[in-house]
Amino acid sequence: MSNVQKYIESVKDVIQHRDPNQPEFQQAVFTVLDSLAPSLEDHPEWVEADLLSRLVEPERAIQFQVPWESDDGKFHVNRGFRVQFNSAIGPYKGGLRLHPSVNLSIVKFLGFEQILKNSLTALPIGGAKGGSEFDPKGKSDNEIMRFCQSFMTELQRHIGPDLDVPAGDIGVGGREIGYLFGAYKRLRGYQNGVLTGKGLTFGGSLARTEATGFGLLYYTNALVKAQGDSLEGKRIKISGAGNVATYAIQKATELGAKVITVSDSNGYIYDPKGINYKIVKKIKEVERSRIKEYADQVASAEYHGGSVWDFDVDYDIALPCATQNEISKDQAKLMIKDGIKYICEGANMPSTPDAIAIYRENRVLYGPAKAANAGGVAVSALEMSQNSERLAWSFEDVDGRLKLLMENIFAKSEAADKKYGLDKDYQAGANIAGFEKVATAMMTQGLV
Ligand code: GLU
Repeated sequence: MSNVQKYIESVKDVIQHRDPNQPEFQQAVFTVLDSLAPSLEDHPEWVEADLLSRLVEPERAIQFQVPWESDDGKFHVNRGFRVQFNSAIGPYKGGLRLHPSVNLSIVKFLGFEQILKNSLTALPIGGAKGGSEFDPKGKSDNEIMRFCQSFMTELQRHIGPDLDVPAGDIGVGGREIGYLFGAYKRLRGYQNGVLTGKGLTFGGSLARTEATGFGLLYYTNALVKAQGDSLEGKRIKISGAGNVATYAIQKATELGAKVITVSDSNGYIYDPKGINYKIVKKIKEVERSRIKEYADQVASAEYHGGSVWDFDVDYDIALPCATQNEISKDQAKLMIKDGIKYICEGANMPSTPDAIAIYRENRVLYGPAKAANAGGVAVSALEMSQNSERLAWSFEDVDGRLKLLMENIFAKSEAADKKYGLDKDYQAGANIAGFEKVATAMMTQGLV
């Protein structure tokens, strides 16, 4: 074992000892650490400075109580989190997730990923994440409003346009950001840049809603083109039916591919004629209903219960857009049997480490989340720019910048892959490219 390898193992040991009950956090960190060896071999001063120990420990982690009242007059208490992970290259930035699975391990994994993702965007934003195990499903608008107001009553003291700028994630969309913004304003006064993903009437950016899904396709297109291939005529399996999946379907279709599946946590739709994103959007955003409805509205579509990754059908590209660890080893094996050539991640960490090993063994080209889904946070940073200059850019302007930013992310990952001779390992390429910028900033700013 080389000295660098020994150093990486020693950092892992500390995490295992300190956070034994945080499996998602360990998974995210260990995957990144394992890929950084070539870069650390090149930068002994980073090992000397024990930089990794600082990178894997949040600068600040806040946990708080969120009491709220339901419409029937009952009182409830949830737990709120904000993990401010790293501010080497800019103010803390990252979404808030409202989902029953949320706990400190999940928020820390997402916050850690956000450091390198935000670095890859080339924009000046640090990494953070937050949320609560509150379940927005089945709640009334008034219940959501009261929860968001209570959440912000505590969060307001920790955020600000130059300090920490939250946004949406699973369970937090335009409605929730609106309530959070209104609550912040009453407590602290009007600060346009304190949240992103805002409504267009109060400082939101055009193309922010579309950004993660569109960005995923701009990245995928760049990766596919680099192999001398094209998206034209490709069959794509998408999981999820939220904001990321919806706009990924739209852009994939516009680029000449055919999306054949969409899913939620109960089951999936298969439509060999191609999924219509407008119907998905209406079912999920207007009717706030289940994806099963799609089959009632479209004659060529079938609904099945279970995971879309267990569905055996020939296709070319997988775009998981649901949630973490949605793809197991066996499901990755089925992808190989079904003939896929590319997988790019719209969700954060949707592939288990065993699944990633299967992609690699079978030479499926893999675009990891922190590169492929960075479009959302990239446009959040563009929203911050517009807020600072009190201007609103056109849809075409923001969308054009997003496309360039995503192509640049692929180019940087590819350059790192080539520099270290990694043989088209775009995951390691993204980890290294994101890390090297953060490491350089940390070293330059002093270590204590
Ligand atoms: N939640 C998104 C992500 O995972 C966006 C965060 C943001 O816009 O700050 O990157």
